Amino acid sequence: MRRAIHVLGVIALTLIGGIPVHAAEKLKIIASFSILADITKTIGGDVIDVESLIEPGADAHMFEPRPIDIKRLSEADMIVMNGLGFEPWLDRLKPSSKKAPLRVIASESIVPLPFDHKDHAHHNASDHDAFDPHAWQDVGNVRLYARTIAAALGSHDPAHQALYSENLSRYDAALAKLDQDIRNKIAAIPETRRKLVTTHDAFGYFEKAYGVEMIAPLGVAPEAQPSAKDLARIIRQIRADSIPAVFLETMIDPRLAQQLAAESGAKIGGTLYSDTLSAKNGPAGTYIAMMETNIRALTDALAP
Ligand SMILES: [Zn+2]
Repeated sequence: MRRAIHVLGVIALTLIGGIPVHAAEKLKIIASFSILADITKTIGGDVIDVESLIEPGADAHMFEPRPIDIKRLSEADMIVMNGLGFEPWLDRLKPSSKKAPLRVIASESIVPLPFDHKDHAHHNASDHDAFDPHAWQDVGNVRLYARTIAAALGSHDPAHQALYSENLSRYDAALAKLDQDIRNKIAAIPETRRKLVTTHDAFGYFEKAYGVEMIAPLGVAPEAQPSAKDLARIIRQIRADSIPAVFLETMIDPRLAQQLAAESGAKIGGTLYSDTLSAKNGPAGTYIAMMETNIRALTDALAP
């Protein structure tokens, strides 16, 4: 009897070994930009392949898909996008008739902010829709992004649903802790110093969630150039409101911020990451590392 079981066991193993097919195939997912790729990979782990279409460090606002990108998109099982007008090129892309990849809009369940919550000279309406797309700057929103992505993965790939929801719970706990850390660190900055100038209007959600005023002389898109009049206006504002710091943004020509600092007397803060992660081994290789790097830069520059 024992021997019979053993023989059956060997046969079963042989059969399993002989099935190379679908069970082992990973879901192919393209995320539109690096922050979404990181969130998706954190939830999907080893059972999915995720690539970011826009590479870390590249300017998402200037992106135009090349033919190779369109091919990659059409071959994916799933496309994870931000929505809120952040990927106008993807909205323009007609899905090919065969099997169109599932499109997941990560921001689907957040409460979007209108873009006119501040009065900027360089509002570039062609780049964005009526809503501010930079919702990931509020960690609370990323908890919702993660939920949306996990649900999409689970319904597309029910075999790994338990894994996705387990990874989601772990990630959600880490995000909740990150959110609280940011609040604690900002609470330690004197209230009158919780304001700064940045070079890209990407922090509306951060301002609203965490109570730091972030003035962006350039308006929305990094490619918009400030006029001499804009610069003069912002320098007056820095002096009048005693704004402690000016921050460079990853994708911006640093000369602008240096000029602002020299003429206004504000301190130049470090880099605030807005729309892209750094390279994997850089200071903002993941979304959580990015937010930690940002809050460290804020705290360093705004502390008295
Ligand atoms: Zn942006």
